[in-house]
Amino acid sequence: MSAVAATWQPAGGLQRRGRARAALQAPLRAPTAPAETESLRSTWAHRGWVAAGCTAVGAALAKSAAAAVATGHLVEPVAAAAAGYFLADLGSGVFHWAIDNYGDASTPAVGSQIEAFQGHHRFPWTITRREFANNLHALGRAVAAALLPVTAGAGDAGALAFAASFAGFVMFSQQFHAWSHTPKSRLPPAVVALQDAGLLVSRRQHALHHRAPYNNNYCIVSGVWNEFLDESSAFEALEMVIFFRFGVRPRSWSEPESNWTEEKENLS
Ligand SMILES: [Zn+2]
Ligand SMILES: [Zn+2]
Repeated sequence: MSAVAATWQPAGGLQRRGRARAALQAPLRAPTAPAETESLRSTWAHRGWVAAGCTAVGAALAKSAAAAVATGHLVEPVAAAAAGYFLADLGSGVFHWAIDNYGDASTPAVGSQIEAFQGHHRFPWTITRREFANNLHALGRAVAAALLPVTAGAGDAGALAFAASFAGFVMFSQQFHAWSHTPKSRLPPAVVALQDAGLLVSRRQHALHHRAPYNNNYCIVSGVWNEFLDESSAFEALEMVIFFRFGVRPRSWSEPESNWTEEKENLS
């Protein structure tokens, strides 16, 4: 029996009110390490959703390029794409903060993502064994659903370039996240170079997210927003607003219990 076959408890101090509290006090499923309980392989459905997301990004880029050529304005879409990359990191951090701190597996729309990210904190090494489409399919589905209508309705080269870049980098954030957990010796040299240049979230920066107090370094595209967000206590301010408005405490206010902290990999 591996050390990872542990019982699963509600995250430490999940002191929700009303329905949320009742739900969390109910017996939970007993997650175990994904390596033991579920396939980390990609299914054809996973590949289909990632393909749909990539198609949506490609269609938006193609429409942007066509509009840019037609108008002769090439600088604007390039700048907009750069802005999309820059803000995708912020978007990844806000989303990661939200699902790390609020909700549970029963939360509509994002329950499976919340469960997956909590499981990731317990078994972080499994992300490096998860196949590409298995890791990205949920974001691929969201990108396809959100970006295709935007592409159909928008005609401005800059707006399309921004949307394509933002959505594309958000979709691939889970791949960048996986690379941030992968030992340097197993990464392609180009990925290591991009991490070292600060263009992709670094292994060292993301490692801080997996250490106490588990309330920082949420951004997983480039990580460029992490220092500002952490030093300005932006997420703590949001947590206070949510607490005083709705009475909901984030998980990061509670002492981590064993379900939040990492189980060491049993390599035997
Ligand atoms: Zn996290
Ligand atoms: Zn991680």
